[in-house]
Formats: sequence, C-alpha cells, structure tokens
Amino acid sequence: MPYVFDFDHAHRRPPMDMKDLLGGKGANLAEMTSVLRLPVPPGFTISTDACRAYMAGGWPGRLDTEVARARARLERSMGKVVGDPADPLLVSVRSGAKFSMPGMMDTVLNLGLNDRSVAGLAAQTSDERFAYDSYRRFVAMYGRIVLDLPGEEFEALFEAAKEKAGTDSDAMVPTELLVGLVDAYKVLVERETGRPFPQDPDAQLRGAIEAVFRSWNGARARAYREREHIAHDLGTAVNVQAMVFGNRDERSGTGVGFTRDPATGAKGAYGDFLVNAQGEDVVAGIRNTDPLSALETRFPDVYRQLIAIFDRLERHYRDMCDTEFTIEQGKLWMLQTRVGKRTGRAALRMAVEMTKERAIRLSRAEAVGRITEDHLESVLHPQFAPGGDRRVLTTGLGASPGAAVGRAYFSADDAAAAASRGEAVILVRSETSPDDVHGMLAAQGILTARGGLVSHAAVVARGWGKPAVVGAESLRLADRSVSVGGVTVAEGDWLSIDGTDGTVVLGQVPLRPAEPSEEFLTILSWADAIRRGHLGVRANADTGADAANARRLGAEGIGLCRTEHMFLAEDRLPIVRRMILADTPEEEKAALEELRVAQRADFVEILEAMDGLPVTVRLLDPPLHEFLPSTHELAIKEATVGLDEEERRLYDAARSWQEANPMLGIRGVRLGVLKPGLYGMQVSALIEAATHRVLEGGRPVIEVMIPLTVSGPELALARGWVEEAMRAELEATGRPHRRSIEVSIGTMIETPRAALRAADLAEYAEFFSFGTNDLTQMTFGFSRDDVEGRMMSTYLEEGLLARNPFDVVDAEGVGELVRIGVERVRPDLKIGVCGEHGGDPESIALFYSAGLDYVSCSPFRVPVARLAAAQAVLAAAAPPGRAARPAARRAATRRPPVKKAAAKEAAKARGRQAAPKKALKKAAKAAPKTTARTRATAKRARRP
Ligand code: ADP
Ligand code: MG
Ligand code: MG
Repeated sequence: MPYVFDFDHAHRRPPMDMKDLLGGKGANLAEMTSVLRLPVPPGFTISTDACRAYMAGGWPGRLDTEVARARARLERSMGKVVGDPADPLLVSVRSGAKFSMPGMMDTVLNLGLNDRSVAGLAAQTSDERFAYDSYRRFVAMYGRIVLDLPGEEFEALFEAAKEKAGTDSDAMVPTELLVGLVDAYKVLVERETGRPFPQDPDAQLRGAIEAVFRSWNGARARAYREREHIAHDLGTAVNVQAMVFGNRDERSGTGVGFTRDPATGAKGAYGDFLVNAQGEDVVAGIRNTDPLSALETRFPDVYRQLIAIFDRLERHYRDMCDTEFTIEQGKLWMLQTRVGKRTGRAALRMAVEMTKERAIRLSRAEAVGRITEDHLESVLHPQFAPGGDRRVLTTGLGASPGAAVGRAYFSADDAAAAASRGEAVILVRSETSPDDVHGMLAAQGILTARGGLVSHAAVVARGWGKPAVVGAESLRLADRSVSVGGVTVAEGDWLSIDGTDGTVVLGQVPLRPAEPSEEFLTILSWADAIRRGHLGVRANADTGADAANARRLGAEGIGLCRTEHMFLAEDRLPIVRRMILADTPEEEKAALEELRVAQRADFVEILEAMDGLPVTVRLLDPPLHEFLPSTHELAIKEATVGLDEEERRLYDAARSWQEANPMLGIRGVRLGVLKPGLYGMQVSALIEAATHRVLEGGRPVIEVMIPLTVSGPELALARGWVEEAMRAELEATGRPHRRSIEVSIGTMIETPRAALRAADLAEYAEFFSFGTNDLTQMTFGFSRDDVEGRMMSTYLEEGLLARNPFDVVDAEGVGELVRIGVERVRPDLKIGVCGEHGGDPESIALFYSAGLDYVSCSPFRVPVARLAAAQAVLAAAAPPGRAARPAARRAATRRPPVKKAAAKEAAKARGRQAAPKKALKKAAKAAPKTTARTRATAKRARRP
C-alpha cells in the first residue's frame, strides 16, 4: 500500500471510514474534495502507516519518492512549482491524527518560500509587502515548530519592528521593516541552530514532515493521550496542501465556523472571522475577531455560499460540523471540517432536535449514542446559587458551562502545584496554549483575558467539561496578579467564575447543584427504553435520603445498602461496643436487641424511599475493631493519665480484635460465624421494618446479602440464620404479611475463590452481586489504600498497568473472574455488580457482555450508568467485529429476541438515512419480563 494519497484519490471505501490511515483531518479533506466536491485547495496526505514506519525504523526509504511524486502531481494541477523563483507554489504542512489532539505539532504555513521565491511571489501578486509578510511568518513558524526555537524570540523581534514603525497593528508594518525582519529571523535561526535557514524546498518539506512525525511522541501529546486513553501506537498522518491566502488584502480573510452553536446547541451558523489574516490568527486570540454574522454584510456572496456549504455538511455528516475557511480575494476555500466538539448542554439539545429534523433523521439510538459521560457530567455541574450580593469583577465569554470557585493562580505550574496541595484553583491566563494543559487539568475553572469561543482555552475546557470564561478583555495581567477597574486580585485570592454566562466574581460564591434540561431527561428516557430488560441500574445507598435521591436520578433499586453506618452513628456506637464487650450471652442479647430497634427505623426509611423496588441489604461487613477506639491512643493514655475501668475493658477488647491484616481478616460472613446473633438481629430488624411498611400499604422488596462468602457451606450456614430469623420474625408479627414481603437471599462475590466456586455458592443463593472493589484488591493482591496513593501513578506512567483497575475494571483478570463466575451458575440466577466500577461506562460494557443483570453505583453516577448501559446494549447488538459479542450465557438462555431487534437498531445507527422509530419500541418490548420476584418466590416455594 502506498504511503501517500492525494485528497482526490479514489479510495475503495468512503474516506471517512479511513481515519485510521488518513487521520481525521486527512479523511475529512478527502471527503470534502472527492465526495462533497467542495472548494478545497488540493493536496495530499502522508498516511499514519508512514508515521508508524518512521517510529519503528526511521525515515522510510520509499517515502521520499512518493512525496516527490505527489508534489509533482500537485504542482501540475496548480500550474506552479514549489520553490520556483518566478512563480512559486506554497504549501502548508498540517498534522492530523485519527483523534483530534492538542499537543501535537502546529501547522507550518507558506512552506516553499526562500530568498529567491519570495521575489517571485512579490512579482506575481504585485504585492511585495504581502510576499515578505508571508516569508516572515514562514521563517518564524518553521523556526519555532520544526527547529524548536523559542517563539518569544521571534515575537520580540516583531514587536521591535512594530515599535519602530510606530504602530501596534501587524498590518501596518511597512515592507522594508518586514524585509529586515526576515533577515533578523534568519540570523536568529543560524545563531541558535548553527546552520542557515534551509533554502531548499525539498529540505524544508522533509523537515516539516519529520517534525510532525516526531511531535506524535512529544511530551504534551503523550500526556494528552494518556488522559484521553488514546493508544500511543496509532501515529499521525501529515497533510501537505496548496496555500490559499487570507492575508492577501482587504478582500481576503480567514475564519472558523460552526454549523450550530457549540455552546448552546441552537440552530444557525456560528463563528468568528478576521479580515486580512492568515491561519492561526483567529484561533490564537491575538486579534479580536468579528462574529460570522458580520461576514454577511462584508462579503454577502461568500456568506451565502458558506451557509449553503454548512447545510450540505450537516446533511452529509448528519451532525454539527466545525469548519475552517479562508477567503482569498473574494473566493471561498474550505480548509477543514469535522464533527464539532460541543458542550453537554449543546450535545443533548442537538441530539434530541436532530431526531426531528428531516435532513438528518437521527434515530433515538443514534441520539443516545452521541451523548458521552462528560456531556452528562457537565450538565450536572454546579451553578452559582441564586441570591446573595456578589461583586462582579468583570464579564468575559462563557466558554464552557458550569460554575467554579477557587484561588487564582497565574501559571500552569503554579496552578498544578497548588492543586496538588489540595487547593481549589482558578487558572488565570492571558490566553492558553498546549503548554498550559497540565495547569488547566488541575484547575476547577479557567479564566483568560483574550481569545474567543474557539480559542485554545475554550476548546480544551469544553472538551473536559470544565467551567471556563475566556476573552475577559478588561483583565490586566501582571506576573502574579490581575487587576481590573482598580481592583487587584493577587495569587491565592478567591475567584468564582460562571462559564455559562461569563461572569467573574471576586470571592467565593456558594454553588448550587445543576438542574438538568428537558433534553437531558428525554435522552435518559430513550436510554432507559433501550436498556430495559437488558441491564438494570441501581444505586448504592445507605440512608433514606440517599435512597430518595437515587430514585430521583433514575435508580431502579438499591444494589448495595451498607449497614455499617447504622452501627457508627453516635447514639449506636456505645451499644455496639456493649455488644462486643458482652461477657454473657444475655448481655450480648440485650445489646443486640437495642441495636435491632435502632436499625429497624433506618430500614423503614430506606424501604419507603424505594417502595416497590428491590433493596439489597448487606449484613454487617467491616471488622469489629472499626467500632472500637484505637489501641494506639489507649496505650498512650494508659501510660500517661491511666485508664478508667470502661476504658480498660475497651482496650482489652480492641487488642483482642486487633488484626495484622484486617482487610483479609475477620469481616463479612466470618464475623457472622463468630458472632452468630449479629446477622439474625439485622434480619429481624429488616423484616420488622418490612412488615411495618406492608401495614402502611407499601411494597417492600428485600434482598438480604451475605458479604465475603467463599464456600457453599459458609453460605448455607449464613442462609440458615437468615431464614431462622425471618421465620421467627414473621411468626411473631403474624403470618398474613408473609406473602406480601418479598425476600430473597444471596451473596457478594468478592474473592477469586468465590468466583471460581460460583456453582457451590449458587446452590444457596437467589442472587449474586460482584463486589469488584474487593475482588480487584484480592485478585491483584493490592491493598487499595496503600497502593493507590504511592504506587499507582508510577505503574501507570511506566505502562505496567494500562488503567487504574480501581477506576476501570481490569478486563483480563477481574473481568475474567466475573465471566467465570457468571458462566458457572444457572442462567436464572440474578447477578449484579455493586463495586464502584458499576458507575464506569467502560466497565459497564464489560459487565453487560459478561451477562450481568444490573449495575449499581453511587446515586450521582446513576444518570451516567443509565446512558452507558444503553450504549453497551447497542454496542453488543452490533454485528460481530463491530463490538464484543455478548457472553454465551446470554446468547444461549437469556435474550435472543432482544438481540435481534437491538441489532437492527444498531445497524441503523451506522449510516442509514431514515429510521422508523418502531424498532426501538420493539426492542424494548421484546425484553423478557422475568423479575427477581418470580424467581425468588418460586425458589422459596421449593424450600421446606
Ligand atoms: P489545527 O489542527 O491546529 O487547526 P490546521 O492544520 O488546521 O491546524 O491549520 C492551522 C491554521 O492554518 C488553520 O486556521 C488553517 O485554516 C490554516 N491553514 C492550514 N492549511 C492552509 C492552507 N493550505 N492555506 C491557508 N491556510 C491554511
Ligand atoms: Mg493549531
Ligand atoms: Mg484546524
């Protein structure tokens, strides 16, 4: 396969399907050229294959010939030759990886100019000033980007020239000074590199291409890929393209346009442009831009043409696009397009609206597929709380929604350092560049004095869902302070920013949690329809308030209710201690009785909040010493002031329950074995609470979960206590309620042995819940508290782990144990997951493909889990090769009819034009209706 492809190369597949090879920019340029036939300056793309070959073994031998041939074709089609002293062709060299990536090499413009061809350009255009302006830009760009020279030195020389000319406008610097500037730049290059500025266009071109290849492995690019989980071995493509000139004259210009508003999602073209300017001038935020609407008055024909192109782009890509364009002496050229980045609010609005637009006809599945975790998170972001008097310092452009409060820091390094000390930070900069990325990452919010809505700061912040205000022009930045209207904000002072409307406030404004839009609810309801019957979403909640919140956010039950907080409450702790200290069975019983009464009230609240939905209550899990005072403190007290009798007993108990490795010690069911009355008490309290709820007309659905079991007999024993307590409790409260309380008994799978011996455990269980936090610790032998702080970052940096396995479930180890556990049990056993992974989209996809019935996560992650669950269902329904196939268990026994319907829906999601909405409803309907209740009650009926 060749390394080089012209933009109009006849590929076998649509160029957009070839982003792997052509990179995103190259694929889009080819698509615009050969499919859409838009006015694109011709050029060619050097593939990612070439970059990978370069990384593996240096400059590939045949690349020179291929580039030379492609260049010759370009020269023929343009009727000009690169470097021609009479009439030179100039080109740009543009990097472009599969995924858009800040931190990679910038673009080199005007390549091909040298001391001779600059005169040709001047003669051809009858514009000497233009020629030398282009040349000085080229030498500076090439010096900075390809030769790695500090950009400020070129800047300083330019500023000096402006001063000499007595102007602060780039466009007013006269030709003689530009000529002198080029000479000064060349002297700078020779002094710094020890070699003259390359005059040979071949050398220039090869240098620029190689610089793009090298930039793939630059520190900034690597850091970005790590954050975004982009593979390091993809490589980048390089695009070489004939130059067009927006800096030609007043009938020329350059701009950036969006087919809709990327901040709000509102329909209608949106963007910025600059008259008589080139390339980066718009994005860099150096000059203040005009809104796209001003183009209509200035260049009405071009404006109409551009709007028509926007329309075609939207129809073609079926999405909002962003574009870069240049006008050269009244002629419009398209330089780039891609499906544009957007805020969460805009993403939701566009996705919903596009299902109703004839030109786009998005299906609901596609709409759901377009929303990301970050989008949801950003609309769930806090806002300024209403009311209160606040001192608005200034206003800029709301570039990325959400409000943030932090202390002002003025460099990325200072911001990162402050954040690592635990401070909340607002990074304040004149403008940002890829060098600031680490500081932006560490900040709660970003504030810049310059730049528009497409400036670096704005684009990066939006991508991360981080609040940002840009272009707050009244800010006067000094080294470590900023002043505005007589007020000075020093380093460390509090600032609050609102990235939605652009206000900047002095001090700390109280924040209010976000209020999701109507489209947010719509998308989630569509997601629910897709996943219903396939993958449930529950929440981990320990109190009535948490349970109510979880339900409000769409949880379909509680997957994990930890009972330990009920023990730790201030009024309970003395009772718990009494139980631990008990000398006689009677004393222990009395303490347990007291606890039972207290627990009952907690359970009532939770069951009420989740009425009609399953509530999984985990019996006590942590080791007992957690309820006792620290032996260390008591030892000190004993040695100094001495202990009273109560303290002496506690000290003895604490010492006797002290463990060398409590994580692997007496906890979970093991505790139940040593303190048999404990679990019985908890179950009594639960059943009593349930009975109370039934009498009040509620419908409690209870799942009693035994933690940390590793063998059948262990679970059988624990099950016996639970059943015994249930029987006793129901007899005491009267039989009539028995039927209306739905109770099932199950266990957590938290150790490798439990996963491997799942079949033994399943004998005594109606449900399993994978506790992937412990399972991860035990599978790796990592003590989370110990390794996460000290070791994890090193392991990730060194590539010893691809991901933190506590964030994303380890597919190969822990994931394999989950699969094994699922495969070894009967298909009707209900299985969920209740570790923190239950809220992580990638892990959710794995759990679905392993055949789990539901995931459970913290309440505020529930919306993300609902979305991710739907996306997992859609991905699994795509034909093989597109996504992981669902586990055999599901294929064989669970949801075959659903698979088909969902497969259809997913197939449609990939590129058809119209979608009957019926399919979605069908997919939802086809879901099997077996509920936990029917399985559990059937099970109970079989038991004596
Ligand atoms: P980025 O990925 O950083 O946007 P680009 O390759 O798109 O980098 O180029 C940066 C700027 O240079 C853009 O504004 C683009 O429009 C301009 N540019 C790139 N190639 C050309 C060209 N052939 N003629 C004129 N301007 C160009
Ligand atoms: Mg750039
Ligand atoms: Mg670009």
